[in-house]
Amino acid sequence: MKYLAVDIGGTGIKYGIVEDNGNVLALYNMDTEASKGANCLIEKVKDIIRFLLKEHGEDIDGIGISTAGQVDRVAGEIIFATDAIPGWTGVKLKEIIEKEFSYPCYVDNDVNCAALGEMWAGAAKGEKNFLCLTLGTGIGGAIVLNGDVFTGSSYSAGEFGHMNLYPNGMECNCGHRGCYERYASTSALVKFAQEKAGTIEKLNGKIIFERANNGEKIYKDIVNQWTYNVALGLKSLVHIFNPSLIIIGGGVSAQGNLITDLIKEHLNNMIMPSFNKNLMLKVASCGNKAGMLGAVYGLKNNKK
Ligand SMILES: [Zn+2]
Repeated sequence: MKYLAVDIGGTGIKYGIVEDNGNVLALYNMDTEASKGANCLIEKVKDIIRFLLKEHGEDIDGIGISTAGQVDRVAGEIIFATDAIPGWTGVKLKEIIEKEFSYPCYVDNDVNCAALGEMWAGAAKGEKNFLCLTLGTGIGGAIVLNGDVFTGSSYSAGEFGHMNLYPNGMECNCGHRGCYERYASTSALVKFAQEKAGTIEKLNGKIIFERANNGEKIYKDIVNQWTYNVALGLKSLVHIFNPSLIIIGGGVSAQGNLITDLIKEHLNNMIMPSFNKNLMLKVASCGNKAGMLGAVYGLKNNKK
């Protein structure tokens, strides 16, 4: 058995073929060109599916789609998406794709898919209760309980990025102040570094960690403050969910143990010892395939 998989992000789309055992046979990518709007994006997804069917044969068992935005995974409808993809809110993607192609289709949120992908074939293999955080432009979250994503009452659970970290803190694009992602996302790390280092050169997460590792004090301090903020948000989540594992995804996960060790050090000082005993922190291991894998896992397991 094999499946088509499409992972729609705000800037790029990844797509390919996933086998029944979680092996990714072919992986392609292209720009989302999100600013062109939802109709254009729907046509793009249809073209991608036509291309995959032509290249890899029509003998497939379904289409799994992971997308940015909050998704009703039963109806396969985008119930809320930010202006990053104009018009995406309200798109009944499953219905549109199933009407066009005669294969079953499954659509879910990208972080939820990433969590399922890691559970199927990555860092969360064998785990049934874990949390997944993606530290990027914002902070995405997924809660896995008893082996399935907890969707909440209306498919919106896991918006960790908008927990309150500092009351009356910095303004957030959600309309409120002091949200977690203003302080602990990768963009926040870069913003703080840019301000504190006072440099005009364009910094990014990789450069900041490189300099911190080389012992440059200013960058060490920035990384220390940032990992403290990441841990401060995790403190609440750990006390609520008592997970056995927290997976850190996003570009900074390339730092491996280095980043999880720093976060764990802060976190250990913030949580009760009973929560500490069987808590692991790991970086995501499926990389850019996690969303595709999770979408196919959802399809295979008929998640509702
Ligand atoms: Zn917010």
